[in-house]
Amino acid sequence: MSGTTTRSAELYARALRVLPGGVNSPVRAMRSIGREPLFIASGSGSRIRDVDGREYIDWVGSWGPLILGHADPEVVAAVSAAAQRGTSFGAPTESEVLLAEEIVERLPSVEMVRMTSSGTEATMSVLRLARAVTGRERILKFSGAYHGHVDGLLAEAGSGLATQGIPASPGVSESAAAATVIVPWNDPEAVRAACDAHPLAAILAEPVPANMGVVPPLAGFLELLRELATSTGALLVFDEVITGLRVARGGAQELYQVMPDLTVIGKVAGGGLPAAAYGGRRELLERIAPAGDVYQAGTLAGNPLATAAALATLRRLDAAAYARLAAVTERLAAGLREAAASAGRGLQVQTVPGLLTPFFRLESVRDFGDAARSDQDAYGAWCRALLERGVYPPASQFEAWFPSLAHSDEDVELTVQAAADAFAELT
Ligand SMILES: *Cc1c(COP(=O)(O)O)cnc(C)c1O
Repeated sequence: MSGTTTRSAELYARALRVLPGGVNSPVRAMRSIGREPLFIASGSGSRIRDVDGREYIDWVGSWGPLILGHADPEVVAAVSAAAQRGTSFGAPTESEVLLAEEIVERLPSVEMVRMTSSGTEATMSVLRLARAVTGRERILKFSGAYHGHVDGLLAEAGSGLATQGIPASPGVSESAAAATVIVPWNDPEAVRAACDAHPLAAILAEPVPANMGVVPPLAGFLELLRELATSTGALLVFDEVITGLRVARGGAQELYQVMPDLTVIGKVAGGGLPAAAYGGRRELLERIAPAGDVYQAGTLAGNPLATAAALATLRRLDAAAYARLAAVTERLAAGLREAAASAGRGLQVQTVPGLLTPFFRLESVRDFGDAARSDQDAYGAWCRALLERGVYPPASQFEAWFPSLAHSDEDVELTVQAAADAFAELT
């Protein structure tokens, strides 16, 4: 694309002078699929339009928040109405209470929440709480799991880091990194050994990792995490920033019926605006200031526009909506499998309701090591071919695709057709 005179190329050139890498979050640069980013002008439903007027079926959905699709009229109306009343007060509002009640009602293990402006902030804060409650420092995390760019959690953190070839990150202090214990996902023996070797404040897991691509837990694995946390006095923390309010009404904890002590949500929880939260049992959350002694705050936390967007979104997410989302996911997955098979291409499409990843690999993916053995060059070439055909995929082998309620059966069919053509172009 470079050297062309598209508006995207022109904006990218200007962006490179004033934004590191031309973007405000690394994966947007599309480097890992070997091309330059597209600048987006607008979105409606399942479609986005770039600044050159080209339309795409969008399977990124802003990386998860847009479960109703772009510019949903009810969400836009709720945000506009809230904005008319004032965009921020730094004082309590009714819609924070309504949203907290709605979240508590949905997530089976959550009795109380504290809202933040980003998922990173929420995971950072939940670790402070876990350390305060247990009086321990160390955190167990899984290789390839991403929990935001919290210092101590950047080691082996999946998607963004994996495709940039950054093992952790310069600038993370040794002490922050030393408090993190990393084990492979879906490896019971490794978790047992780590729990024996270290006094842990928390076992932190994406209950369905989606930042190494979608890698569901093997049968019994989440139950084992629960057992080991209980028997060793660690807290089990589910990072449901992606899965919460998406894979089921009550998140992965409802889907798998395994209850964490603390939960982090984000993405869908902000309805497309910046918002996240952490929550759990009342006696744990009451350690947070001003109820308790663990300090955490936020100027824009529980922001009126974000809570309005979230409430307008959650109102629509009933049982029928989750059934529809699961059906769209499975339909797309089946179509991609068929398209790959007809082209003689090894493809492993892994799903949970509302999330999928087509891994360019023959065998199933059980952990980050498996994911990393996918053919990333082929994935990149396929994505470039999809973009040329009006389909906008996640620009990394290690990300989930995000079906939404705005995706129609026709969107799925058009995507599968484009995928088949793109596979044919590869071979
Ligand atoms: C996106 C994500 C985060 C970080 O959320 P931000 O709002 O980007 O800071 C944390 N955990 C998981 C599982 C995520 O997918």
